[in-house]
Amino acid sequence: SMPTRVALIAHDHKKDDIVMLAGEYVATLRRCELLATGTTGSRIAAAYGLTIERMLSGPHGGDLQIGARLAEGDVDMVIFLRDPMTPQPHEPDINALVRACDVHDVPCATNVATARMLLDTLATKTAAA
Ligand code: PGA
Repeated sequence: SMPTRVALIAHDHKKDDIVMLAGEYVATLRRCELLATGTTGSRIAAAYGLTIERMLSGPHGGDLQIGARLAEGDVDMVIFLRDPMTPQPHEPDINALVRACDVHDVPCATNVATARMLLDTLATKTAAA
């Protein structure tokens, strides 16, 4: 079957968290097709050698690029570690991506606890036979 297509995005104060999370699930993520916003993608690729399709940085339109791919049916799961404490210049883009997930019924984790639940499910689903 087709690999699960997972999008990874983290705001600056959450980048250490997403790198840690990706490390916990690196075996599972290796079986997925990954896309990410620019800096998030670089951080995770550098840490674990994962192949990641990198979009623009979030503030430069990366969230919108991921949202467009999702709207076309090309994203199966979104891990989006938002920073709830810091105003973001691209708040409308952030909301557009989360809305696109709701429109298209794509699972979207916006915090580490939910991300673990999604990735645990994925780990079971993608476990090597
Ligand atoms: P980045 O984009 O991964 O390029 O930093 C995410 C964001 O900060 O919105």
